[in-house]
Amino acid sequence: MTIRELEQKANEIRQGIIDLVHISKVGHVGGALSSCDILTALYYEVMKVNAGKAEDPDRDRFVLSKGHCVEGHLNILADKGFIEKEELKSFCQFGTRLIAHPNRQIPGVEMNTGALGHGLSVACGMAKAAKIQNRDYRVFVVMGDGEQGEGSIWEAAMFAANYKLDNLYAILDRNRLQISGPTEDVMKLEPLKEKWEAFGFYVEEIDGNDMREILYAFYKLEKVKDRPKLILADTIKGKGVSFMENQTKWHHGGLNDELYETASKEIAERTRRLCYE
Ligand SMILES: [Mg+2]
Repeated sequence: MTIRELEQKANEIRQGIIDLVHISKVGHVGGALSSCDILTALYYEVMKVNAGKAEDPDRDRFVLSKGHCVEGHLNILADKGFIEKEELKSFCQFGTRLIAHPNRQIPGVEMNTGALGHGLSVACGMAKAAKIQNRDYRVFVVMGDGEQGEGSIWEAAMFAANYKLDNLYAILDRNRLQISGPTEDVMKLEPLKEKWEAFGFYVEEIDGNDMREILYAFYKLEKVKDRPKLILADTIKGKGVSFMENQTKWHHGGLNDELYETASKEIAERTRRLCYE
């Protein structure tokens, strides 16, 4: 796909996120929107995954460590044919498998996530398994910045560097907010780039809502050997819906009809603009 087509697709997924949060009246909408461009780039350009070969041992693996932001992931899995689009309407309804977190009942989901701080550890295991089995699949894991306060992340980081897991691609959705406020007020994280480098990672720092920068970062990372890699993606929580952007309260929330209309209009306007830019 071209950069423009990927941007259009990301906007389509954004609308899907808004739809889910409108249907269910709940959802981790802010973080789903901040990571939307990254997930779109991964699923439509970077990763080798195919709904028809969901159990292919050589498929790339994806772990959404910040599992609460599942709305974008579910929309992508539906669009890629892992699940039926119709099923999205059951999001967070009684008896559904589309609960508020990724789980292994959903085709294409590699790990139950939601308990924060665990995704990188399991992704390390997957990457190490590929090395042991001489397979060339890669493992992609999207982490939140709120979960950087979990000690298990840093244990995993040591493991990844120790075993030279160059098939591991960590992406840190650095939207600077977590459930209870700015990350730097809750638990100081900076200097994050230097910390990850000190733990042995090759780090690319980018605008994580810019499709061109995201793709170029993955292109550069592909060439780095013998070390794990991390994209420090500077993003905006709630990206694409102006009344949600950089607002802690939109970490989690539901949309009434009026707000849904406003958000949808804004996303549609962005899609129209992209046709002419
Ligand atoms: Mg965050």
